[in-house]
Amino acid sequence: MHRSNSFRKLKRKVGGKTVLHYKRKANSKPHCAICDQELNGISEKGAKTRKTNARIFGGVLCAKCTQDVIKFGNRVEQGIMKLDEVGIKQRAYVLQMVAH
Ligand SMILES: [Zn+2]
Repeated sequence: MHRSNSFRKLKRKVGGKTVLHYKRKANSKPHCAICDQELNGISEKGAKTRKTNARIFGGVLCAKCTQDVIKFGNRVEQGIMKLDEVGIKQRAYVLQMVAH
């Protein structure tokens, strides 16, 4: 258990001796799947409703990337843009948009 990197080591003095204590690391904050920016308005703790928002791709993409994906999705649907012209990171999400 203590070989895992999920635990952080704490040096604590107990009765004049330094002892290693282990504490579970905190969960990492959720990040956007495209630009890796920290997601706003989302908590890493609590119920499902706290970990997402009602928007499309809520809890996965940030507002700016969602905007781009919706924009590209509409352009692909209308034939103004080809799927190859969409960035590789956005492509999977644009495909989901078009499939709906
Ligand atoms: Zn983003």
